[in-house]
Amino acid sequence: MGNPHFLAIPYPILGHMNPLMQFSHILAKHGCKITFLTSDENYNKMKTTSIIGGKGKIMESHINLVSLPDGVNPQDDRKDVAKVILSTKTTMSAMLPKVIEEINNINCDNKISCIIVTKNMGWALEVAHQLGIKGALFWPASATCLVSFNSMESLVEEGIIDSQNGLPKKEEIQLSTNLPMMEAAAMPWYNLHNAFFFLHMMKEMQNMNLGEWWLCNTSMDLEAEAISLSPKFLPIGPLMGNEHNIMGSLWQEDETCLEWLDQYPPKSIIYVSFGSLISIGPNQFIELAHGLDLLKRPYLWVVRKDKGDNEVKNSHPNELKGNQGKIIDWSPQKKILCHPSIACFITHCGWNSTIESVCNGVPMLCWPFFSDQLMNKTYICDVWKVGLGFEKDENGLITKEEIKKKVDELLEDEEIKERCLKLMEMVVKNKGEGDNNLNKFINWAKE
Ligand code: UDP
Repeated sequence: MGNPHFLAIPYPILGHMNPLMQFSHILAKHGCKITFLTSDENYNKMKTTSIIGGKGKIMESHINLVSLPDGVNPQDDRKDVAKVILSTKTTMSAMLPKVIEEINNINCDNKISCIIVTKNMGWALEVAHQLGIKGALFWPASATCLVSFNSMESLVEEGIIDSQNGLPKKEEIQLSTNLPMMEAAAMPWYNLHNAFFFLHMMKEMQNMNLGEWWLCNTSMDLEAEAISLSPKFLPIGPLMGNEHNIMGSLWQEDETCLEWLDQYPPKSIIYVSFGSLISIGPNQFIELAHGLDLLKRPYLWVVRKDKGDNEVKNSHPNELKGNQGKIIDWSPQKKILCHPSIACFITHCGWNSTIESVCNGVPMLCWPFFSDQLMNKTYICDVWKVGLGFEKDENGLITKEEIKKKVDELLEDEEIKERCLKLMEMVVKNKGEGDNNLNKFINWAKE
């Protein structure tokens, strides 16, 4: 049997596309063939930023890129998660069998052997199942987060959460005896306050269970207890390296900040970024700007210029412009986090950012908003103890004084810094376990 041909289908947002693309490149390096299916919208963005070479081939790689409409109209709000999930499912699932047939006709000596999907694309595992093709889930968040979704049904049965909207009937939930006790509000379905999402994930879990493997960008050092809860878990992390970052091609990375960082001494810069989705409100934005100013330390702050966000960007207080900070639209984050001048990371605790920070031994200041971010904060602050959290005031604001206090506290905490280095060394040293799991996965797909 030759090398397998994988059809990778990420949910069409950056936080899913980027890690799955990175994983696809790793599979390609192992001689596998990859067809990467994305939405027309993302395909066009990738084309205009010249990531794509001739005929849908990703530059300098053996990955073929194909696209389908996701059914979201140009005038629709892509931040409306429910709309994008439903529309993607309806539009793409109807077209997928035909696309698979076409891909197989072109590759008749190397037909698709396995479909890999991310969250919200579980319908594609149903299609794979119907067509007799192997399927696997690539989970772009923590194993614990997946355990939490997989526990929803039993939590309902045990009367711990409501069957219609997932609202908890307890203040705290422990998903399993060896997992940390967490605030119920940290459960990823709960904090979206969204019955649609809860019910969608109940169904999604059924589909995701059709996948033979749950590939996770994590490792035993980080989440042994969660990983041991299902034989489907295959930790293939941490995925490291700066190459193949399609985010940088979808959104122009400001590489000039690397030279800017070069002029600063080791561990002197505060890096601030809230990932690809979060936007903070104008009041909180000003408070953060003043908080960074109060610190009297240099900082690098990513403020995305999304559609409709210009007023947020423009609200950066004039009197602070050009002081110790540099504000950029989008950073080459992985390169930043391994730059010696970075002292700490004010982060929304997205899983990718968390892993990138852990792999570079950078202490974190946790500012989670929703989804799995609160759960990741629990790991960062209470389990690995490599960061601190902010407290909100009575108006739900993180004040400038709180920002100054916590950043100063973190930068003076030698124990946290030591734990960061130890965790980094351990995770990097044991990277071979992830590589072994990767080989196991490829061999399974070959069978
Ligand atoms: N990222 C980046 N430049 C930025 C901010 C973020 O390249 O200015 C990348 C970051 O390295 C990470 C991803 O965007 O790989 C964000 O993923 P994460 O899971 O942390 O958060 P999400 O965007 O899904 O909320």
